[in-house]
Amino acid sequence: MDFSLPDEHRMIRDTVREFCEAEIEPIAQEIEDEHRFPAEIFDQLADLDVMGVPVSEEYGGLGGDQLMYSLVAEELGRVSGSVGLSYAAHVSLATKPIELFGTDAQKERWLRPLAEGEHLGAWALTEPGSGSDASDMDTTAERDGDEWVLNGTKQFITNANVAGSVLVKAVTDSEAGYDGISTFIVDPEEDDGFEVTTVWDKMGLNASPTCEIRLDDVRLSEDRLLGEMGEGWDQTKKTLDGGRISIAALSTGLAQGAFEAAKAYSTEREQFGHPISEFDAIRNKVVSMDRKVERARLLTRKAAWTYDQGERVSHESALAKLDASEAAREVAEDAVQVLGGYGYTEDFAPQRFLRDAKLMEIGEGTSEIQHLVIGRELGL
Ligand SMILES: Cc1cc2nc3c(=O)[nH]c(=O)nc-3n(C[C@H](O)[C@H](O)[C@H](O)COP(=O)(O)OP(=O)(O)OC[C@H]3O[C@@H](n4cnc5c(N)ncnc54)[C@H](O)[C@@H]3O)c2cc1C
Repeated sequence: MDFSLPDEHRMIRDTVREFCEAEIEPIAQEIEDEHRFPAEIFDQLADLDVMGVPVSEEYGGLGGDQLMYSLVAEELGRVSGSVGLSYAAHVSLATKPIELFGTDAQKERWLRPLAEGEHLGAWALTEPGSGSDASDMDTTAERDGDEWVLNGTKQFITNANVAGSVLVKAVTDSEAGYDGISTFIVDPEEDDGFEVTTVWDKMGLNASPTCEIRLDDVRLSEDRLLGEMGEGWDQTKKTLDGGRISIAALSTGLAQGAFEAAKAYSTEREQFGHPISEFDAIRNKVVSMDRKVERARLLTRKAAWTYDQGERVSHESALAKLDASEAAREVAEDAVQVLGGYGYTEDFAPQRFLRDAKLMEIGEGTSEIQHLVIGRELGL
């Protein structure tokens, strides 16, 4: 594995970092307080041409790889977990699967606007009654003539109220187990029967909308089936293998942001006549943060690099996601502590990183589920 980044990757990372510091960081707390999805930021990210980083140029993407995409996710996470989460859900969950599994006509119709950032995408797997055991879903798609009719409720769907397309998982054959699940492309504007019923208030990430949606006799033509009937579960596993790398990258960014805030504060704040970084207890915390951030970054880059070799990546992506999400929570919590009373206020970012980091241990498979995946990969 080559640890140095290619020039093109550095260039994209530096451009995105500059944009993040100039445009996102100054409003990062405000959009959380207002629970406001920052559409203007996503328009600007589209102008930077990063809404489809790992999508081929033929369909409006940047033609980059997973490593480049994870660098962008990390930079967004370093300033705003919400922007990073909506971005990662858009790219990994809603956009990339259409490139991987769609027909040429579907790519032209649905992939291009997503990759060009004309609108955001969403991906609907989770339901009120099925989360970790996601294949145990109740949403159905039944044939009626040459149409599919979808019915069900999906829970905690990122971007659903701002999306131009939603990939919905539904049971097409209740007797076939994992092979009885299929994926459908739903247009929230045009398809009657699609409704966002709740936008959740959360402990963090409130600028990234998390929605409950209801599908009530949503009628779709045959060309809305993504891939073949019965391939939905297999697609889900492949989608999550890639998606977990971006959650690991986003977590690394959150950890990096918290680490930087704590390090800077520790050298400026004086108590007992000395900068607090001179006290072993504080210096050790900051050193430990550095170790955790670097470890998370290395595991994330290894997973991205393995993905880019075209190899199976379930083990690497689960390991990176498990480690980086834990690192983000621990580093952010220590950063609050290093800032003392100020760390507990909204004037400083660590409290926001802490609240945002907690989700990284839950979304796209909880830490407990990552342990199950890794155990299975180890043959245990
Ligand atoms: C902010 C946010 C954004 C999200 N975005 C999306 C999205 O865009 N699309 C989407 O489809 N979903 C999304 N989700 C859903 C998310 O993926 C699920 O919440 C997650 O997979 C856990 O499912 P659950 O909430 O039903 O918890 P449950 O599965 O009910 O788990 C509850 C607890 O039991 C544990 N547990 C469950 N099974 C086992 C087991 N076998 N062994 C050990 N422990 C176990 C879990 O680890 C957890 O601690 C989002 C969730 C949130 C909060």
